[in-house]
Amino acid sequence: RDVTAGAASEVRLRELSLTDELTGLRNRRYLDSVLDFEEERAFRYGFRLVCAFVDLDRFKEVNDTYGHYVGDQVIRSIAEALLQRCRKIDTLARWGGDEFVIIMLVKELDDVELILQRLADGVGGNVMEVAGHSLQVSISVGAIVSAAGQPTNARQLLVEADRLLLKAKAAGRNRVVIDVAQNSQHGF
Ligand code: GH3
Ligand code: MG
Repeated sequence: RDVTAGAASEVRLRELSLTDELTGLRNRRYLDSVLDFEEERAFRYGFRLVCAFVDLDRFKEVNDTYGHYVGDQVIRSIAEALLQRCRKIDTLARWGGDEFVIIMLVKELDDVELILQRLADGVGGNVMEVAGHSLQVSISVGAIVSAAGQPTNARQLLVEADRLLLKAKAAGRNRVVIDVAQNSQHGF
């Protein structure tokens, strides 16, 4: 019995180490542990790998106006809204702060914009009731899609996605910026 109890608590500890405390989502460590697997899976089955960075718009204002407790609830609420809009097989993780990462496999390039725009509209349109305040926070998304039929490098894709997120911010926020990786050009 002791052996079983020991194994169970080990599983529990491992689970905790891969979970973001505030939101209950997967954390960055979990994300890191699945990147190799996801890039392999995408290539093997002929899917494109999509790496997306999601960042809340002007979130500092929420903290400054309502305080960190409300800010924390907003992060939780956005996490839940994102989770509701992701498929079970997608990877959704809190990267840290007000940033999240989504990894997904898609068959058709055309679907990517549809999926992410719907996600951004849904999450941004979500009115949250927090401590007696009605709040709405939009999100910006930077996403990169791997080149078709080629091996890819998820870590490099994440770097690209982060760059595209900056573009979305610079272009005015509350928007999705998507690019497709060109293998020869990027070397991945
Ligand atoms: P931008 O539209 O450019 O993203 O503006 P922003 O105000 O959201 O700025 P940025 O993303 O750079 O900063 C995120 C802020 O989120 C910084 C910090 O005050 C706040 N923050 C980070 N982690 C937490 C957290 O766990 N709880 C709360 N309440 N606030 C956090
Ligand atoms: Mg932000």
